[in-house]
Amino acid sequence: MPTPIRRQYLELKQRYPDTILFFRLGDFYETFDEDARLVAEELSITLTSKPMGKDLRVPLAGVPHHSIDGHVAKLVARGHRVAVCEQMADPADVKGIVPREVVRVVTAGTVTAENSLDATAPNYLAALAFRQGKAGVALADITTGEVRLASGDEATRELIRSAPAELLVEDEADVPAGVSASLRRQPQISDLAVEAELARQFGEHAREGLVGSDAEAAALARILAYLRETYPAALGALQRVRTVASGDTLALDPRTLRNLDVFPVDGRHSLFGVLNATRSAMGARMLRAWLTRPLRSPERLAERHDSVEWALHHPIETEQAHAILRSIPDIGRLAGKVGARSAGPRDLHALRAGLRATLDLGGQLNRHSPPSLLAEGLRSLASAAEPLLSLDAALDDDPPPTFDEGGVIRPGFSPEIDSLRALTRDARGFLLGLERLERERTGIRSLKVGHNRVFGYYIEISSANAGAVPEHYQRRQTLVGAERYVTEELKEHESRLVGARDRLVELERQAFAQLVETLAAGIAALQAVAEAVATIDLVLALGTVASRHGYVRPTFNDGDHLRLAGARHPVVEAALGPGRFVPNECVFDADCQVILLTGPNMSGKSTYLRQVALIALMAQSGSFVSAVEADLPLFDRIFTRIGAQDDLAAGQSTFMVEMVETAQILHQATPQSLVVLDEVGRGTSTFDGMAIARAVVEFLHNRKEISARTLFATHYHELTSLADVLPRVRNAHVAVHEEGTEVVFEHRIVPGPSDRSYGIHVARLAGLPAAVVNRAEHLLGEFEANGHHPNGATAESVQPALFGGPAPVETALAAIDVDGLTPLEAIQKLYELRALLPAPARRVRQ
Ligand code: ADP
Ligand code: MG
Repeated sequence: MPTPIRRQYLELKQRYPDTILFFRLGDFYETFDEDARLVAEELSITLTSKPMGKDLRVPLAGVPHHSIDGHVAKLVARGHRVAVCEQMADPADVKGIVPREVVRVVTAGTVTAENSLDATAPNYLAALAFRQGKAGVALADITTGEVRLASGDEATRELIRSAPAELLVEDEADVPAGVSASLRRQPQISDLAVEAELARQFGEHAREGLVGSDAEAAALARILAYLRETYPAALGALQRVRTVASGDTLALDPRTLRNLDVFPVDGRHSLFGVLNATRSAMGARMLRAWLTRPLRSPERLAERHDSVEWALHHPIETEQAHAILRSIPDIGRLAGKVGARSAGPRDLHALRAGLRATLDLGGQLNRHSPPSLLAEGLRSLASAAEPLLSLDAALDDDPPPTFDEGGVIRPGFSPEIDSLRALTRDARGFLLGLERLERERTGIRSLKVGHNRVFGYYIEISSANAGAVPEHYQRRQTLVGAERYVTEELKEHESRLVGARDRLVELERQAFAQLVETLAAGIAALQAVAEAVATIDLVLALGTVASRHGYVRPTFNDGDHLRLAGARHPVVEAALGPGRFVPNECVFDADCQVILLTGPNMSGKSTYLRQVALIALMAQSGSFVSAVEADLPLFDRIFTRIGAQDDLAAGQSTFMVEMVETAQILHQATPQSLVVLDEVGRGTSTFDGMAIARAVVEFLHNRKEISARTLFATHYHELTSLADVLPRVRNAHVAVHEEGTEVVFEHRIVPGPSDRSYGIHVARLAGLPAAVVNRAEHLLGEFEANGHHPNGATAESVQPALFGGPAPVETALAAIDVDGLTPLEAIQKLYELRALLPAPARRVRQ
């Protein structure tokens, strides 16, 4: 027969399958059975067992109550869901079994423990829904209350770039590639339930007012319903709903973000790292948001750039503002805690200091007539005034972290609290008076009145004076060399004191809860302040970075021209230190749509390609750019295919991955896109590679509906002849010079194809015996004259396909309708194409 507690546990546990249940038992949170085994292993804690009925011992593993947050966060980080069950009453007040309830289920998308969250990144819970075949996405960051919606293609893009921690789906098959969230399958939600959820959270007209598409509404309702199950308090923080409109942003797939090192991964240097001179976590998160969703609107970009420029020209004001910003705590996440009613006295103390500082910031910057975006931010800071009044009125100047000792509420706020406080003070005074009095009465000068947790107040008298102890003293405790006593008088005062103190704590709690309620009712104001601080912090930081690294304000043209002078790779430049990076130009215009960059390894090709893409990304994010002059088109997408990233986990070969990625680019690029292709075709044999590389360039060049600006780096020197036949292809190469016997890469990009005999040249410089070098030169001349290739293939068998008249491969390539192919069909076609090549060229490098 299990004990009542065991029965209570089992009943709760059965309501939370696939979830580790932490069950509060006194000072511990315990797990049982399978959960206990799992927790013991994951947290490296001891697995024991506990008798829970006649002949019943169950496995048990527990953690002390004060350390629960860290353990839960760890388990969630490992991919588990954790339910936290609390005692809903003080065991001292209950006869029989203490009522227990699960108050929260912690999942990847609903963690709030500070130490498990990155302060510079949002933590999104996302939902994906479909209505009438159209996708809708909702994202919520419960730590700040931010909510975002997107529909259609933008939904997929938003889902990918936001990298949510947890994703709710109706069907796992719907999840787009590139999303690595922990998945949670949820049943479809009915239209009626959607309406009800939205109305309950955002008011009666939420469905029409806030949310665009049916799919968005369903996704948002799904999130609300999920939070209601897991962490209902968090709903209090969700207020502002934003829609990411389609086509407003420059699209970047996760691969491109990674290829360009936009965000730090595994401690690598990143664009985010270079640009992040923000002084607050809010500013850092805003930078992340700007880099994640670069704009396409010239007006909005002008606003950002105006403000960055202002900061650049006001270094003293910026420096002063930075000093204030550094002292501002994370108002965004504090607002989230207020909304979830989980803020404690120190949280509100920090919030108050932060709000006060923002008012200083406003006063400080407003004197210098800043441009619109900054000015707007500064105006929003005024919203800090009202919550600040409430905080100042109620909260003590220096409140303790908990309520146990009293002193959270400011004197003068509540007459009742004040009088209780006076009473407890008097009671303390009384005890001191009592000590004096009793010493006089008994004549024992060493008599002491003291207090301990177990026995409460006592009178302590040394054993030496035992003879002088009055009759009415009642002995309570015997110590070495002393006895402790109580008297009726003492007991009476003690109970009065304890009663007053309990009541005081209770009243302080109530007053505090009331304060939190008031602040939560005005949470929109707190969120507006947080956002304003973030924006101000960020534009000032971007100004600082611009001046630190000599960045320039970019201009935008509404065509497809691009002109960069003195351009640098921002991340490599920052890593190398000042003056070490060799700046370069880049021009795309009516005559140049594709730049074919050739040059030896390690000469700087990849760096150059990335730097152009990064500058475009910086410009459309609102930052100044690492160049002396920059005029750019407003790109709709940046595509990159860089390096050999082997997706071994998916069981695909390097080449397969390379082709899948290339196929995606060819399918999706538009004339407004920027395409960066680094060594495409490298993953296969030379002739395959060349054939594919050439076909890709032709395709990007010849298709009017694609014709994206393209940077193509290749070590296939043969491709440079493409510039002779394709009018908008330009060759460029990396300049090299000799210093004594050393080859020095100048990292300077110059027009024209690279020097073909470079390899033999290097061989001579490297000190290869003259006989070998001469022989090599001779052989090269022969190959070129006879069309023989060193691997034995004759030029006839291959070269005509590339550079002569039509060969089977070329005919087959021309016949392909690339737009109509899925990535997989493209791969299939490639195998067919390769089969058309002569045998020696067919070896695939894996
Ligand atoms: P490639 O792609 O031609 O093999 P990379 O772009 O990888 O060459 O560059 C090789 C090295 O040269 C890198 O370590 C990089 O830091 C350095 N480098 C590249 N471009 C420059 C430059 N413009 N100025 C200074 N160093 C550079
Ligand atoms: Mg390279």
